[in-house]
Amino acid sequence: TRLDAWGKESAALSCLPRPICLAAWKAFIMKYDYDLIVIGAGSGGVRAARMSAGHGARVAVIEGDRPGGTCVIRGCVPKKLLMYGSAFSADAADAAGYGWQVSIDGHDWPQLIAAKNVELDRLESIYRWLLENAGAELIAGWAQLAGPNAVSVGDRVLTAERILIAAGGAPHIPEIPGLAERAITSNEALDLAERPASIVIYGGGYIALEFASIFNGFGVDTHLVYRGDLPLRGFDEDVRSEIATALEGRGITLHPGTVIEKVADAGIGHAISLSNGSVIEAEQIMVATGRAPNTGGLQLDAAGIAVGKRGEIPVNADSATSVPSIFAVGDVTDRINLTPVAIAEGHAFADSIFGGRPRTVSHSNVPSAVFTQPPIGSVGPGEKEARAIHGDVTVYTSKFNAMKNNLSGRSEKTFMKLIVDTASDKVVAAHMIGPDAGEIIQGIGVAVIAGATKADFDATIGIHPTAAEEFVTMRTPRD
Ligand code: NDP
Repeated sequence: TRLDAWGKESAALSCLPRPICLAAWKAFIMKYDYDLIVIGAGSGGVRAARMSAGHGARVAVIEGDRPGGTCVIRGCVPKKLLMYGSAFSADAADAAGYGWQVSIDGHDWPQLIAAKNVELDRLESIYRWLLENAGAELIAGWAQLAGPNAVSVGDRVLTAERILIAAGGAPHIPEIPGLAERAITSNEALDLAERPASIVIYGGGYIALEFASIFNGFGVDTHLVYRGDLPLRGFDEDVRSEIATALEGRGITLHPGTVIEKVADAGIGHAISLSNGSVIEAEQIMVATGRAPNTGGLQLDAAGIAVGKRGEIPVNADSATSVPSIFAVGDVTDRINLTPVAIAEGHAFADSIFGGRPRTVSHSNVPSAVFTQPPIGSVGPGEKEARAIHGDVTVYTSKFNAMKNNLSGRSEKTFMKLIVDTASDKVVAAHMIGPDAGEIIQGIGVAVIAGATKADFDATIGIHPTAAEEFVTMRTPRD
């Protein structure tokens, strides 16, 4: 139809000089400035942009901050670097049982933050290069929708046949007197100029627990305040209680079933009033009570998109919004807020729309890790949810002293759990707390996705001596 129309158009333009005809032709054929505009150069947006460009699309990516997004600049990567750094104190303590005389006094916090920042600069430049190398144009600025096919950035309006919103999320701070003025979030916690002597962390989710482990490992007097009886709501109940015990064993002070009522000034920093009547004085207070999709500044109504009640952009399995030209992936959709999920969604979008290979991403059985000390690895539902889904399940658990602890004297237990659908014998979930849990569960995740049965696990020879072998040697179901 466009060619038919061009026939009529070209007849009308035939009297014009050739360069004008060519410009008019180009403007007509290339109805939009780009085939795709991506809003946000985080994990999901960059993957979608690179793959779409690889499929031949003309792509622009608009980013107001540093390319790399939450994971690379303010999340997974710097968090894990600090986590590595904080783990040396426990390693040093364990080393004594092996004959080492180790002193770990005098940690240089500014040196660590500077080294971390050098690494982030390196990764940011890689992200820039990845986009450039793929042929996608990176445009600096904050984007707003200006219609179903138009985006404004500064005083420019750009058009595209399709728009992908991958704007991520940001920390959400509850309304509590003094909290917003005084608390840091994970963003600032990764960039503190000095290591605090004490910190109160509010929340019982992934971020709260990981940062509690980090600060505790660096010798900071760490308090974790959360409203539930146990942290990590949504995880298997045994995992929740075992991690609470382990974190307490590492020296973190837990305040379960507690909310913060007020934060005020105190000599050393902040006076944090808790619902149980006590007041903690701490140099820092960090809030980690969840994250909200970054939709506030996008002017979504200009394109006719209404957000959901958490501020998320509602999408279907194809990551399509209610507007046919606009798609969204990653945390801004508030499906499963994990980097690899955003990457998978971005890749599937590119393959479906520009690669001629329509596909969707499965959001079930997504393995994840919580990088606490000790870490948690998990794939599949917790026991309660597994019973609700599968009915009759058989549960295997194991709790043991890791071999390394026998000389180090550390009393922390490793915990493992397998949940099996009794009727089919399929392993539907695996959970672990202990050294390398994330690394181990990644492999178990493949088996769960592949539909391995408990008989398959039993037929697998263990690697000895490892903790992971326990996953293939558990034989007696729990009562
Ligand atoms: P989470 O949703 O995991 O946890 C939020 C915590 O804050 C919960 O304990 C929740 O309690 C509590 N909370 C929420 N609102 C309030 C309130 N008004 N008052 C008091 N407490 C409140 O959020 P996070 O910020 O920890 O992490 C966000 C997401 O980022 C995670 O869900 C995860 O998807 C991702 N992430 C993943 C990581 C990884 O893979 N290792 C690491 C870091 C983040 P309750 O449970 O009672 O509602």
